[in-house]
This record gives sequence, C-alpha cells and structure tokens, in this order.
Amino acid sequence: MPNIYETHDPKFAALFVGSAGLDQLYTGARWAEGPVWFDDLNCLLFSDIPNQRILCWSPNALSGDGVSVFRQPSHFANGHSRDRQGRLVSCEHGARRVTRTEPDGTITVIVDRYEGKRLNSPNDLVVHSDGSIWFTDPTYGILSDYEGYRAEPEQAVRNLFRCDPASGAIVSVADDFGQPNGLCFSPDERLLYVADSAASHDPTAPPHIRVFDVADGKLGNGRVFSHINNGFPDGIRCDTAGRLWSSAADGVHCFDPDGTLLGKVLVPETVANLCFGGPRRNRMFITATTSVYAVYLTVTGAQMP
Ligand code: MG
Repeated sequence: MPNIYETHDPKFAALFVGSAGLDQLYTGARWAEGPVWFDDLNCLLFSDIPNQRILCWSPNALSGDGVSVFRQPSHFANGHSRDRQGRLVSCEHGARRVTRTEPDGTITVIVDRYEGKRLNSPNDLVVHSDGSIWFTDPTYGILSDYEGYRAEPEQAVRNLFRCDPASGAIVSVADDFGQPNGLCFSPDERLLYVADSAASHDPTAPPHIRVFDVADGKLGNGRVFSHINNGFPDGIRCDTAGRLWSSAADGVHCFDPDGTLLGKVLVPETVANLCFGGPRRNRMFITATTSVYAVYLTVTGAQMP
C-alpha cells in the first residue's frame, strides 16, 4: 500500500491509522465538490458541478458503485451543508442562490440577492448553531458556461454573507477577499475560518486561509491563519480538537489550531473539498476532481458537515 500520509510535525502521527488506506469510492465526475454526510440515511451527497448533478453514495448498495443521482439538473450546485433540523442547504451557481431542500423534496429559496442585486455564485456555506447561514460568494460560477452561466457580476465585491433563513435578511460580514471559498467554524464557534482561493486565477494572490473572531453575528480581528504550500485552499473542515483540515492540490493538509502544518493526507487528484462522516464521524470524505475518496482517521469531525 503506498504511504498516503506525509508528516510535517510529530503530532500528526496520532491522527491517522497507518494501515488505513485511501478508498476511491467513485470516479466519473467532472468536478466533484460539496460533500455532506447524512448519518440518518447512511449516505454521502456531493456535487458534480459541470455535469449539473448532485450524486448520492451509499455503502448500502447491493451492487455497482453505490452511487445514484440525487438531483439533476442541479442548477450547478456546489457546496452543501445541513441545518439544525437536518435539512440540506445548498449553494447553486446556476441560479445564483442559496436553497433549502424540505423533507418533502420541495426547494425553498433562502436568498438570491443582496442590496437588490443578484449574488455572484454562492460557493460554500456553513450553518451556525443559532440557525444562521454563512456563505461565500465568489465569481467562479459566472466566469464561463462550464460551472454555471457566464455573466457580468452585479456585486461590486466578493462577499462573505450571514443570512437569517427565517426572514431572508442578509448582511455582508466581510468583503476584502480575492475569492472567498470554503469556510468553517471552530468547535466552539468563536472562530470562523475562510479560505481565499483567488490563486486559482491569479498566481500573485496568496493561497491562504484567514481566521476571524466571531461575536454576536459579527467578525473581527481578521488575520492570516495559514498558507497552502501546494495549490490553494478550497473546502475546509475542523475536527473536534479544533484542528483545521484543508483541501489542496496534493491532498488534504492538516493544521494545528496555532496554524502549524502537521501533515497531509496525499490524494492522487486535486482536492476541492472534504467532510467528516460515517456512523462514528471518523471517516473523511474527499471530493477530488473526478473522484470521491475516503479515509478513516483517529479524529472526528467537529460539527454537522
Ligand atoms: Mg468551494
């Protein structure tokens, strides 16, 4: 078995099981993104953005690769999460909106405008324990007709938004990004991490993850948390100890809460996103270009995926 673990700090050794390999669960996507685990259904939903579909992988399948189509067309859906009632909440490039899927399958539009103008293309989101939805709004989904519909942005900047799903009220909580992308809270929700992926199109942009203090629905004290040394960050997640796991070109990078790179899980395709799942929440699911991979770790995911 090839070694898939690259250690940069001795602390990393306790976070993985050396004999636990990388499982390729599925391949055949054009750009896999937005993994979200449904423990109640024992399945992983993920986006295949250019193919306009949300797919469902389940270990329960009796035959085949365990993957079925959950929704198609998907409005070029990208990132997903679940709210505190367990409902699917999704970012859609094509319709340039954030939606919620109700238990009966109907789709509720949560927000599609800010100050009367269409959003750029919501990319990724996270739900706070108070029910508020925090999402990023870079321009990737309107740059071409590949991952959405080409259009000129109506927003002057690429915002990070907080939205109240009950009222639809939306506020910009930060607006000084190149391209805000993946985001997650620390386990105590006192910190919010935000990946800036502007290096995807601008080689001079810093491939870094920023962190903010969170208080009363507002952000403060923004600073750089870490740099990605291979590619740039996209989706990110915390484990229960507050370590940050980030997508990168060569795999998933794990950072200590102080920003130290502890190590990497090497993946043979560029990683776009990840989430923790499985009955023990100790399996990391990784969407990586054409494929979905998974690896069992000794850590568990911090919160709802
Ligand atoms: Mg993303």
